[in-house]
Amino acid sequence: MSDTRSAGRYGVIGNPIRHSRSPEIHEQFAQQCSIALSYERILAPLDGFEHSVQDFFQSGKGLNVTLPFKEQAFELASHNLSRRARMAGAVNTLWLQDGQLHGCNTDGVGLCADLRRLGHDPADRRILLIGAGGACRGVVFPLLQAGCELLHIINRTSTKAHDLREHVVALEPDTSRRLSAGGLDDHSGDWDIIINATSASLQQSLPELPDARYRKHSLAYDMFYAGEPTAFMVAAERAGADQVADGLGMLVGQAAASFAIWHGVEPDVEPVLAALRQHSGHI
Ligand code: NDP
Repeated sequence: MSDTRSAGRYGVIGNPIRHSRSPEIHEQFAQQCSIALSYERILAPLDGFEHSVQDFFQSGKGLNVTLPFKEQAFELASHNLSRRARMAGAVNTLWLQDGQLHGCNTDGVGLCADLRRLGHDPADRRILLIGAGGACRGVVFPLLQAGCELLHIINRTSTKAHDLREHVVALEPDTSRRLSAGGLDDHSGDWDIIINATSASLQQSLPELPDARYRKHSLAYDMFYAGEPTAFMVAAERAGADQVADGLGMLVGQAAASFAIWHGVEPDVEPVLAALRQHSGHI
């Protein structure tokens, strides 16, 4: 394309923020789509998120939000939330429309897109989701919307898994038959997809699930990403998962969905994912 469009100033806000890979992802998407933009990392003080957002939107057009501010972003955009943001109770994508702040959560669509890319469309699958923190809140409704047969959430603190289920069912009563919850040892049956959405991988640890059973053609997915297979991925392979994957594709997928909201264009995730993996020695 020769007509490069000018799209302005974008960024990702968090604390800490130095580790964020969003700038390289959005810059590659922009190049693909011939859109001229700047995309920066913004370190907001822990007690200064709202001020930093207001300051950014004096001239900025769109913000990604990361830890620990997704719930605060939800509050800030509370008058203009997408359905996905309301279901998640958290926002990772902010933009101005008609002078008003709008918010969406793209984590779940990013995950679903990556599952499809890996050949595991969530439709009609039995899915075990481990964890009940921020990442889980963002993916529960999109997995249900994608048509999974059953989504069972288990968490070390089982009350949090039950609370998450109740939150979703209260907003979307039709999901009640397909959504269940329990503690870590409550996972009888076998699974097409098991997703690790705990932060255990950060410590190269894994949630203890000694007798988790994988079905044929199953996938073990760790939302965490690193330059090598995570402890969860290694254990899942031993336990009989046919395929294992880390969460780098989800990261690129959620960025692609934010990009589409801001620019009205769906970028191609494959070359960006390949470049990220090559750059950092990712598997
Ligand atoms: P939170 O801190 O909000 O939640 C952490 C969750 O992990 C809780 O459910 C907690 O259980 C559980 N947990 C922590 N340690 C253990 C353990 N040793 N055994 C069992 N359960 C444990 O984190 P997030 O939800 O924000 O993030 C979770 C993971 O997802 C991280 O690895 C993060 O990097 C990744 N992530 C990836 C994204 C991507 O795009 N690929 C996007 C967002 C997150 P309890 O409630 O009992 O404390």
